[in-house]
Amino acid sequence: MQHNWSRYFRLIIGFLVVCTAAGAFFGYPIYGLTLGLIAYLWWTLVHARRLYHWLGNPGATREAPQSIGLWGDIFDGLHKLHQSHLRLQDRLRAQINRVQESTNAMRDGVIMTDAKGSMEWWNGSAEYLLGFRRNTDRGQYIHNLIRTPAFKAYFDARDYREPLDINSPAKPHIHLQIQISLFGDDDRLIVAKDVTRLYQLEQMRRDFVGNVSHEMRTPLTVISGYLETLVDNADDLPPKWRRAITTMAQQSSRMEALITDLILLSKIETGEQTVNDTVTDVDALIRQICHDASALSGEKEHEFSVKITDQRLLKGDESQLRSAFSNLIFNAVKYTPARGHITVTWSANRDGAHLSVRDTGIGIDPVHIPRLTERFYRADPSRHKDTGGTGLGLAIVKHVLLNHDGTLEIKSRIGDGSEFICHFPRERLVERVPENVS
Ligand code: ADP
Repeated sequence: MQHNWSRYFRLIIGFLVVCTAAGAFFGYPIYGLTLGLIAYLWWTLVHARRLYHWLGNPGATREAPQSIGLWGDIFDGLHKLHQSHLRLQDRLRAQINRVQESTNAMRDGVIMTDAKGSMEWWNGSAEYLLGFRRNTDRGQYIHNLIRTPAFKAYFDARDYREPLDINSPAKPHIHLQIQISLFGDDDRLIVAKDVTRLYQLEQMRRDFVGNVSHEMRTPLTVISGYLETLVDNADDLPPKWRRAITTMAQQSSRMEALITDLILLSKIETGEQTVNDTVTDVDALIRQICHDASALSGEKEHEFSVKITDQRLLKGDESQLRSAFSNLIFNAVKYTPARGHITVTWSANRDGAHLSVRDTGIGIDPVHIPRLTERFYRADPSRHKDTGGTGLGLAIVKHVLLNHDGTLEIKSRIGDGSEFICHFPRERLVERVPENVS
């Protein structure tokens, strides 16, 4: 290129020298040079104009303009650049088409939106699952098409660690699990998975457990009733029967407690709709439960402390909250040796409201903590015989908290006592209305 450039330079100088010499031949060397310069300027302008027009619309013709000399080389260079750009564009388009084809073949709905939710692209499954229309919905805000408030809250919160379950807006019998990922310039990739079958299986499981528990309750109540009568009249029975009847009565009351907990758990799992309609006076609730707990403690004479540092009410279902809090406080009684200390605290700060139940009991090995809220999971199976627990208490606590957008935190070490903390979001706190306002 360097070599060509000096050749062009020499050519231009040569041309101007020839023009000057021709002018000198007629006695006007300056006019000859000026004419030469004007001719060169005109040549340059004509080619600059052709280049300008071609650059303005290079797609109109795939060929760059043709010429000779310096301009010919510039046009050739541009033509090569343009061709390689077109080839790259074709390759990229083919790749994008391939990705779109494969995404279209997916059973999950895939949608791309910008940061505000304006829809840029979606696949065929999204059309089927969510009822989007290819021709009219491009550029629409996704919130106008998926009107579930939970979806808008999930989209705006930008916390996509957990998926969101919703019903399809177009086909309400379809249950969808929505997962959003961030990509590019704050854009969103939304994947909608059809989980209807899983949802139905889960529903069947809940119904089955609920129905079986209900069906078993009546015969068991009859058996327990007769056994209690027999225990009351144990003195009339032959001695070899007394022990058997007492054990049978104990086991049937354990089964009754189990069935009561199973029914409660299945009610809590399906009773999400009531939790936003009522408010609960946590202060009064804790005091009542601690009163019952000190009766349960009996001869173990536990020392109870109740600390209330926030007087606001909690938006939530009182009977569900009662089940959760009493399970935690009764567990503290069950797993704390005689004359131990049990502290119940209700407080609130910027992170939300917190109910803590702390005891000076036997504690739990930290390896068990992640699994404690599973149904029938026990830290030490040999212990539960003495406590008479059903193994469902913490599962109930977990589901109650799920219904109230809360979480359970467990801190414990063997021999160091335990602390169970229920965290509720700040939005659930409600100001107490003064009683004597008329
Ligand atoms: P359970 O009816 O057996 O008490 P839970 O679901 O209430 O069932 O508790 C599960 C397990 O967690 C218990 O079996 C016990 O091992 C452990 N646990 C619960 N609360 C406490 C506590 N305050 N101190 C020590 N261990 C506890």
